[in-house]
Amino acid sequence: MNLVIAPPAPVTVPVAGGGLFPVHRIYCVGRNYAEHAQEMGFTGREPPFFFLKPADAVLPVAEGQVGEMAYPPLTANLHHEIELVVAIAVGGRDIPAAEAARHIWGYAVGLDMTRRDLQNEMKKLGRPWCIGKAFDESAPIGPLHPIAQTGELTEGAITLSVNGTPRQTGDLRELIWNVAETIETLSRAWTLQPGDLIFTGTPAGVGAVVAGDLIEGRIAGLGSLQVRIK
Ligand code: MN
Repeated sequence: MNLVIAPPAPVTVPVAGGGLFPVHRIYCVGRNYAEHAQEMGFTGREPPFFFLKPADAVLPVAEGQVGEMAYPPLTANLHHEIELVVAIAVGGRDIPAAEAARHIWGYAVGLDMTRRDLQNEMKKLGRPWCIGKAFDESAPIGPLHPIAQTGELTEGAITLSVNGTPRQTGDLRELIWNVAETIETLSRAWTLQPGDLIFTGTPAGVGAVVAGDLIEGRIAGLGSLQVRIK
């Protein structure tokens, strides 16, 4: 292979207990908890919709570490969104919901960090969300836990605090489109590949953080993810 520049370093997420999971793509589900959809101005069960972040938007945070995220440029309204992240081990197209679990490698706690002011501006103009959602370090993620150990996650508390004050509280049972349905719908639009990550949406209570803030996200069975904004 005659590469004319050095290839980019592989993007990886640490695995709890050791090892690294290589990242292929990052898919994200929009407005997937009823109360969060309401706070964003929507009601009812609309079909799921998706956006992507580049793989290298991952900010990996190893077990027991506090991640450091630089406050990004061009925004004055950086929001936290705690999300269950699903890691795909086995790719495929047109995966039925009933078979979705067989494609999952494991789960992690993730943050879909959002430049809300830019996202809102793009929504208003009918333009793509990339600048609001897909920026550098916009996807902090804690260690992956294999489904072989956790079992299929369909319920459990999902919470986020900032400097110790609770901000977001929900339960995985409240997902409008559960993980299996999400994999079914996603895999009709794209061929899922080993290494794909799926951010499954955030419960209500999103809000702004500023430099110096400590974000702590928790999902039952997956421990916590701590990120300090620099
Ligand atoms: Mn989100």
